[in-house]
Amino acid sequence: MRAAVLSSHGLDGISVIERDEPRPAPGEVLVRVETVGVNQLDLNVIAGRGPGTAARLPRVLGLDPAGIVVALGDGVDPARLDEAVVVKPNIACGACAACAQEREADCPAQTVVGVHRDGGAAEIVAVPAKNAIARGGIPAEIATAAVHSVPIVLNAFETARVAEGDRVLVTGAGGTLGRAATALAAHFGAEVVAASRSVIAASELPEGVVGIAATDAAALRAQLSERHPGGFDVVIDVSGHGPTLGAGVAALAWNGRAVFCAAVSDRTLELDTLDFYLRRKRLIGVASADYAQVRRALDLVAAGAVTPRIGARYPLDEIGRAYRGFAGSPPGKVIIDVS
Ligand SMILES: [Zn+2]
Repeated sequence: MRAAVLSSHGLDGISVIERDEPRPAPGEVLVRVETVGVNQLDLNVIAGRGPGTAARLPRVLGLDPAGIVVALGDGVDPARLDEAVVVKPNIACGACAACAQEREADCPAQTVVGVHRDGGAAEIVAVPAKNAIARGGIPAEIATAAVHSVPIVLNAFETARVAEGDRVLVTGAGGTLGRAATALAAHFGAEVVAASRSVIAASELPEGVVGIAATDAAALRAQLSERHPGGFDVVIDVSGHGPTLGAGVAALAWNGRAVFCAAVSDRTLELDTLDFYLRRKRLIGVASADYAQVRRALDLVAAGAVTPRIGARYPLDEIGRAYRGFAGSPPGKVIIDVS
């Protein structure tokens, strides 16, 4: 099979080569891959930095493949053969207290497809059967684009217990996660303000959502207090920018919840601690999703509540070019067409 293999750190360490097909271990399935996405985490693996240092080389890249189940390991339900699936990148340990309560997002021993084990930038990938999630009629590229981002955002909403009519602020609304957060907030009947650095065209926003553009945190604070002097019930921050998150927390109403879910982020956050304490605010970090949330997120995608935008597409042989161009690529999920 053809596979994109990282054999040494750096973009020059990637080559698309022939490799032996993996064999499914007990409890695993083999997926014939149609699409896989390009992610920031891949770039960390390639550079050998941050969370990417967990990868041992050589490593097949690719976190979020979608395709068809073509072989089953021992103990897997035979009905799963030929199923259209998408792979949840984070594999929960299955043995800890969080896993026992099906709160797999909070499992402290998660491993990641394409980091701790070979990934899906290959014609065939082996994954635990539980991580190959049925995608029904969702096209492979849409499932690849949705499987990591939409469940995280859904987890943020469920963790913050967003209810119909809540005032919800999304900061970093222009990016992939921000678009998903804005769409879901509108779908859940919240009163939504979508904030970003540059103006988001009204045609890009769900009906009823107010877009605001602020180039810095001070301007954002001023606009937010003018818009909702009483404050917001929930802030979903995907900007990863400390001062922006600080502005969001400051804009929370009594008992407001701020959820922080950005992979790339500042290391410091300044808060008015007295305000935080007196007004009973909460700040929560969300970095992955429970298995049930992935299934609910895919149901929302299938129902049209949120539709990930597809950006540039490359064939597997040009995956190196996709990684090189990732930082400057136009909006939307970068997709590798494997077959
Ligand atoms: Zn666990």
